[in-house]
Amino acid sequence: MSDTLFGKIIRREVPADIVYEDEDVLGFNDISPQAPLHVLFIPKKPLATIDDARADDALLLGRLMLAAAGYARAQGVAADGYRLVVNCNAHGGQTVFHLHVHLLAGRRMHWPPG
Ligand code: AMP
Repeated sequence: MSDTLFGKIIRREVPADIVYEDEDVLGFNDISPQAPLHVLFIPKKPLATIDDARADDALLLGRLMLAAAGYARAQGVAADGYRLVVNCNAHGGQTVFHLHVHLLAGRRMHWPPG
């Protein structure tokens, strides 16, 4: 995949409000929050979309989801609830082509999404 904004955030070439990091995953506050808590969790591996993930990415995807869920629990929002979102390509509304999981919390979510 070509370089993206999120690749630059991983390399600290672009500033971000980083709130979580481990060996495989980075989490940072969304620059345009859609909920009181809105954090993006990204794999350090440069996968463009969830459609680019393959069987050997299963462990990484699990770690990505667990990082988001663990962060939600640590922030005390898990009992009230939250939403994890992965947008894929144009119809999914994806705008940054480095796979990311949105964690949205702190308000009641609506369904269906727009
Ligand atoms: P998506 O539409 O699923 O690709 O989501 C991309 C997200 O990245 C949007 O929620 C944007 O607000 C967010 N975003 C864009 N630029 C930045 C940035 N520099 N730092 C943090 N979040 C960003």
